[in-house]
This record gives sequence, C-alpha cells and structure tokens, in this order.
Amino acid sequence: MDIKGLTIKKIHHDLVKKEYSAKELAKEYFDFIKKEDEKIGAFLSLSEEMAMSQAGEVDKNIAGGKGLGVLGGVPMAIKDNILIEGLKCTAASKLLRDYKASYNATVINKLKASGAVFLGKTNMDEFAMGSSTENSAFKITHNPHDLERVPGGSSGGSAAAVASEMAVAALGSDTGGSIRQPAAFCGTVGLKPTYGAVSRYGVMAMASSLDQIGPFTKTVEDAAILFKELSGQDIMDSTSAPVSYGDELLNPKIEDIKKLTVGIPEEYFVDGLDKNVANKINEVVKDLEKLGIKTKKISLPHTKYALFCYYIIMPAEVSSNLSRFDGIRYGTREKADNLIELYKKNRDFGFGPESKRRILLGTFVLSSGYYDAYYGRAQKVRALIKQDFDEAFKKVDVILTPVTPTTAFKIGEKTDDPLAMYLSDIFTIPVNLAGVPAISIPVKNNTGLPIGFQLIGKHFREADILGIGQLYEKM
Ligand code: GLN
Repeated sequence: MDIKGLTIKKIHHDLVKKEYSAKELAKEYFDFIKKEDEKIGAFLSLSEEMAMSQAGEVDKNIAGGKGLGVLGGVPMAIKDNILIEGLKCTAASKLLRDYKASYNATVINKLKASGAVFLGKTNMDEFAMGSSTENSAFKITHNPHDLERVPGGSSGGSAAAVASEMAVAALGSDTGGSIRQPAAFCGTVGLKPTYGAVSRYGVMAMASSLDQIGPFTKTVEDAAILFKELSGQDIMDSTSAPVSYGDELLNPKIEDIKKLTVGIPEEYFVDGLDKNVANKINEVVKDLEKLGIKTKKISLPHTKYALFCYYIIMPAEVSSNLSRFDGIRYGTREKADNLIELYKKNRDFGFGPESKRRILLGTFVLSSGYYDAYYGRAQKVRALIKQDFDEAFKKVDVILTPVTPTTAFKIGEKTDDPLAMYLSDIFTIPVNLAGVPAISIPVKNNTGLPIGFQLIGKHFREADILGIGQLYEKM
C-alpha cells in the first residue's frame, strides 16, 4: 500500500470502497513512522495500542453497517500540549516528563467521535514557546525538506509529521503563529481558527487570550473538513462561541468566492522580508487575480507595534498560567525540605531557559508600579491593532500577506538570539491579537524550500479563507 499523498477525503473514499481496512492503514503508518522518524524526530511518543483499537472499532462499524465517521480511520498526530486520557502529555517540558493526562481535551473527544486514529504525540517548543521546536527539552525535530533546518515552531513536530507523510493530518496550537509558521516552513496547510471557534478545554494554556487549536493538513480541502469537526461551542470553555459552520466550508460556491475582495497590506512588505518570499507572494496575488478575484492595497498602520505588544501581553499570561506548575500538582516531584524550597527546586529543574525568560518578563510587567506602564498600555495597543483589522474589513473580505519573512532557517542559527527568533512571527502575531482566523497555504510552482502565504479572514469567516484557498489549490 502506498500511503504517500493520502488525504482525509481519499481515505474516506477508500475505506467505503473497502480498498483496505483501517487497521491495515494504521499498521502501514506505524511501520513507516518507525523508520522515517529516526531522521525527522517529529514524535515524542507513539500510541500504537490506542490507535490499533480505534482502527479496529472503525472496521467493526463498517462491517456492521454502522457507517463511517467523517474522520473514520484517519491517522492523526497530536501536539503534546493537548490532553489524551491515559497518555503522556509533556508539553516538551522536563517538568512534565512523566505526566499522564487524566481526561480528554474537547477536541480529542470530537476527533474520537468522528473516528480518527491517534498515532502519537508530537514534539514542540516547551509549553509552545518558540518558533523552531528547538526549545523542546527532549529532542530536535528536523525539517523534512532539509534535515539541517528547523521545522518552525512551536508545533514543529505536527508540521513535520504531516509534511513527511507520517500522518495524514495533525493538531497544533497557535498563540502567535505556532500553526501557521511551521506549516509555511514545512509546506503544509495550517489553520488558526477565530478565537472562540474551537474549544481550548484540555490544551495546556500558554496565553489564554490568544491560544487556539487548529489543524495541519496536506490540502485546504482537508483543513476545511477537519476544522468543521473541531469547531463548536463547549460548555467547558467559556470563551468558545455559539457558532456553527455550515456546508459552505466544504463546498464553497465558486461564484461567491470570486466576488470576494482581497486586501494587500503595505505594512507587510517591508525590510527584512526575503526577496524570494516577496516574489512568490506577488505571484499568488496574480494567480488570484487570474481567478477573477479583485485585489486592493490596504493599510494596517499599527502592525509595527504588534510584536512589542505581544511580548508584553503573552508573557504576562504565561507567567500566570505556568504558576500552576509548582512541583506538587503535576508531574514528578523533586525532593525538598520545605515548601519554598520545593517550588524553587522543581521550577528551576523543570523549566527550560525560554520558559524562565518569559515567566520573569511576565511577572515584571504585571508587578505593581509597572502594570499600567506596560500591561495596561499594551492592552490599549492591542485594541488599536484590532481596530486596524475592523477598518480594513470594511473595505475588503480577506487579507493576504506572507506568513513569515524567510524560509526555514538552519538548526542552531537563531538559538542565541531570542530577538531574531521572535521576528519570525511578525506577520502572524497581529492575527492572534485581533482574534481573527488565518490560514497558511503553500505557494505553488516553488522549487526551493517551502513558502507559505497567509489569508486572514473576518471573525468567524473561515469559509472565506478556506474558499479562496480551495480555489487556488485546484487551479
Ligand atoms: N513563536 C511564538 C512565540 O514564541 C508563537 C508561539 C505560539 O504560537 N505558541 O511565542
């Protein structure tokens, strides 16, 4: 059996036609992973037993005439900050190296109900903080297109698993670009849904006002299928919104899509943007015009403050969220003589340097006397950035930008320079601050390292970006 190029759609078709069974398919994937992942390093742990039993269930349902769920038999990889009951969930942190999840994230329950098969948990930057997956406490993940390069981050393992065909699809989380940037570096599709479209219950919180879970897939069509399954209001996440997405996600009307106007913001084509990336993005603009879509120059004037704003709000929320890791409630415990020593020992041993840096920064910007000067002002800037998008979306339906300024960089190239690393999220961060949805799609006819373009939509208008994406993909 050839698993190369398999999509969610194709697997559904093949299983219905009985070309192979879900168990045979899962077995093929594990055989391939065991060879391939030695050089890629995408997985932190495999869940073969669980997967085979899930696949067996799918086969039983087909044989018993019970039908096939939308994701029936689809082999998926899950980022290691999303809880699956009974499996290790480490967030790539030493602190949680032996932690086992005691319940399922809502997205996991949804995937299970839909028949997905979980292959394993993927590598990431510790607690989702980073842009290269080099902040993992456990291993380096290599970019499948060039093993000397990073896969991006923080969901680098999920992106690399899909790009190397070790999984048909994967879940990641995106707080400032962690789905879209690795998708761009690895040449996969990656969707960050609207804040509130997908429940965050059971994902380890990084910055709660920015975090969203989303899919990595090989095609935009698959992203639409998977997103539809993930979305919906959840009583366990008070920030999840009462929206339901209809069939327009899956079957976009070509005539309606062609009526959309796409804005190109001048602030995203600046110094530091690689020439080759810029050229390729311009080609995409021309391709969309060929499809009959109108394009228009627009301005998002506060873009230049987004990175600074993010590096105040995000660490503030991080310092508060990560305070729960006190060495008592989760994971293993380092021995100590008294409580304060216990906290110190566990947090010092458990957190890597990037986590410590952000906890310190966040504690500082929230401390009395600095709160108004930093955190309060950053919140005001965030409002302005959101206003930019509101204004732009009065003139256009969708915004097109690069995903990240360069192609994948070399392993080790930016590890000593956090600021250089932070810059790779300059085009993705404003989207999280505004809470709007965005997708990274690989540009076509590209012979070098993968390059992604970003389509940003209005709140809860995933249908627009997925629609244009599907048109582009099929042209
Ligand atoms: N790379 C960004 C950061 O380091 C975004 C991380 C994320 O989206 N989880 O914060």
